[in-house]
Amino acid sequence: MEKQGKEFSRRRFISQASKIGGASAVLGVSGAMGLFMDGSGEYVEAKKPDKEKPQKSPKKGDTFMLLNVRLESGYEYENGYIVATRSVIRNLEITKGTISKILDLKESYRKDLDCYDAKGLLLLPGFKDMHIHLDKTFYGGPWRGAVRRKNIFDIIEAEKTLLLELLPTAQERAEKLIELIAGFGSTYVRSHCNVDPTVGLRNLEELQKALANYSDKISHEIVAFPQHGLLLSESESLMREAMKLGATHVGGLDPTLVDGNMEKSLQTMVQIAVDSNAGIDIHLHEGGETGIKSVNRLADLTEEAGLQGKVTISHAFSLASLSESQAHEMASRLASLGISIASTIPIGKNTMPIPILQQRNVNVMLGNDSIMDPWSSLGIGDTLEKVHLAAGLYGWSYEEQLSQALSLATGGITPLNKEGKQVWPKVGDEASVVLVPASCSAEAVARLPKRAAVLHKGVLSSGELSYKKK
Ligand SMILES: [Zn+2]
Repeated sequence: MEKQGKEFSRRRFISQASKIGGASAVLGVSGAMGLFMDGSGEYVEAKKPDKEKPQKSPKKGDTFMLLNVRLESGYEYENGYIVATRSVIRNLEITKGTISKILDLKESYRKDLDCYDAKGLLLLPGFKDMHIHLDKTFYGGPWRGAVRRKNIFDIIEAEKTLLLELLPTAQERAEKLIELIAGFGSTYVRSHCNVDPTVGLRNLEELQKALANYSDKISHEIVAFPQHGLLLSESESLMREAMKLGATHVGGLDPTLVDGNMEKSLQTMVQIAVDSNAGIDIHLHEGGETGIKSVNRLADLTEEAGLQGKVTISHAFSLASLSESQAHEMASRLASLGISIASTIPIGKNTMPIPILQQRNVNVMLGNDSIMDPWSSLGIGDTLEKVHLAAGLYGWSYEEQLSQALSLATGGITPLNKEGKQVWPKVGDEASVVLVPASCSAEAVARLPKRAAVLHKGVLSSGELSYKKK
């Protein structure tokens, strides 16, 4: 999968990465990159054994057969309770990125096409990582922990140096991170991207190059993110430039805590979105009263500006402070305005009322957020693992709870609806899928199986498929 002509830049990247890592490089081991350290302390790339030569795999625009795919077909009930999930094996024809036929094993299929054998692996919808920072990660270089801080301003200050250190390798790191999340089954990503006076629009440019190189393997959205404060760092004009350069969403950050002027901060963000005809995705870490005030005010402005269905609040920790009845009331308002919540499933004091949000039909999306960056070190890049965490946190352990929980990772899609009727895949659906060694969605959420193969619009983006000769 290594692209030709990248070797030079990779070497530059590696030597740069060692420099950035400083002393920590000595301790660094980067298995994901296939790197090891030689006797001189330099990172070198491990030689790949010949047997790892890539087999034939589906490419962009191909029409091919995916044989022996396991599809969920219904629930089994006992004493009125769902106790198990049934499945069937089918052959799929995929035409230029779309599922064009779903065939019973007895039905004939086009043997003149390339055929790949899924060998009974379960087919799941591709995952969507809806909150990550691809542009400023330490990942891809030596291990490095998050910045020690007393408050948010300490990291903003530290970023003013770190971002410039990371910039020369930002594209390569973003590409490594894309490979990581694709390997876990993500076929869609919404990445936030710093837009601030330190890096200007350069992180955006590097991120866009990375995403363009991987456009066959993952779909994306980009949030222009004024990490150093929209007002605090006077980034409005940079933000407007970022939207012209192709960012899809206007970001924001804690309008009271960081910008010190909730009304002006929110108004400015919304105005940029209206002027750019774009959506919004704001980082709202503020807890308690000021956080709730911001959510309410943003809801008002969403309504006034006609941005229904185009606004996401990331984190929204303040919702964790609401009573049950307040949470229901808030959830109803968010749902009525089509305001989505993007969450990392925080564990600890901020237990988000996600079950209530879902009950009220708020679109809840998950993200891995920080994968080894100045803010946090704990993301592993697996959106399915986030669903697993949610299941643990909210006590979902029954078959239908685990089965339906998959929707958090897939933008709402589950193979079976709540009544156990098969609703995915259908002919005409995008062939962005994950194949896993599991019997059903519930097992996949509970057991987190290996992702054997990942297809993005019919293109193999990760793992491998067994090619059957014509
Ligand atoms: Zn974030």
